[in-house]
Amino acid sequence: MYQRIVIKLGTSVLTGGTPYLDRPHLVELVRQCAALHQAGRDIIICTSGAIAVGRARLGFPDLAPTVTNKQMLAAVGQSRLMQTWEQLFEIYGLDVGQVLLTRADVEDRGRFLNARDTLQALLNYRIIPVINENDAVATSEIKVGDNDNLSALVAVLVEADLLMLLTDQPGLFTADPRTNPDAELIREVVAIDETLRQLAGGSISGLGVGGMATKLQAADIARRAGVDVVIAAGRAHNVIGRIAQGESVGTRFKALAHPLENRKRWILAGPKAAGQVVVDGGAMQALVANGRSLLPAGITAVHGTFQRGDTISILSPAQEEIARGISRYSSHDLAQIQGCQSDEISERLGYAYGPVAVHRNDLILL
Ligand code: GLU
Repeated sequence: MYQRIVIKLGTSVLTGGTPYLDRPHLVELVRQCAALHQAGRDIIICTSGAIAVGRARLGFPDLAPTVTNKQMLAAVGQSRLMQTWEQLFEIYGLDVGQVLLTRADVEDRGRFLNARDTLQALLNYRIIPVINENDAVATSEIKVGDNDNLSALVAVLVEADLLMLLTDQPGLFTADPRTNPDAELIREVVAIDETLRQLAGGSISGLGVGGMATKLQAADIARRAGVDVVIAAGRAHNVIGRIAQGESVGTRFKALAHPLENRKRWILAGPKAAGQVVVDGGAMQALVANGRSLLPAGITAVHGTFQRGDTISILSPAQEEIARGISRYSSHDLAQIQGCQSDEISERLGYAYGPVAVHRNDLILL
């Protein structure tokens, strides 16, 4: 039974494909959330629709599609959107709390913990966090960019056990159902591979940002952190309640193995990799099969510029990303000690931060 559930509602679900919020449908979604809440579950909403609501509120002005104009629309829309959630949850006597995040809030470990504590405090008080990206001020460099990925980061933050990505499609299909009558719904995804990514293709919804491609990215992040993920139609009958009961609805991705410990969750959700190191076959074996740390001796190349403490990608000899972790040395240092035995580090650099390049406690395998 799922206890902590993040529900991502795409613009297409909230508007039903029209330019306006579909309030009767929102009432229905809130009813389902309230029922779960009353049954003792923790509910976290990740809502889109700020820009769409802002545009409707201002009477569909003829604006150039600039970042500033979108930010203006988001600023107008976000407060209206929030007002709507507030009013609807109030029907059930429930309080909501608005939390607006950007990528910068999860990249820095201190801010990550801070955001986590805020969300935890809301949940402890039985308040429903309603989350969106802080579109009014976020610029592209610090944006997550789409609420699929945002909701996955939130699921990682709050250590959810289920993430629902509700959209205008019943799930992921074996082909494009609009053009191929043989297309079948994929009920369970075991591995997210290149074939599946091809299938997911680009964006298919009109008003929102995400498509199946961003949903796959989101599912990948969340399930690595120990979260089950379901992509389903937000308009299907009692969809939230049914998924929460474990009924087979839409496309399900089972969480991989055990939930990650906190620090590793941050490595997965937080910073983008600042650089890369390529390792040899022996080091790859030690990392993947034996769960060892990465030593400088196993590194064959260093790419990008990073500082000690930055997150880096670890690539196989075939240049595939096999792990991500926190580097104990800067790129400049690693370039000088790559291929060296650990006891030679001091001699080469004139100092040492210990024998490993990336410690296994700071490393997640992908
Ligand atoms: N944050 C955007 C909004 O509220 C939505 C992003 C998305 O649709 O993924 O308008």
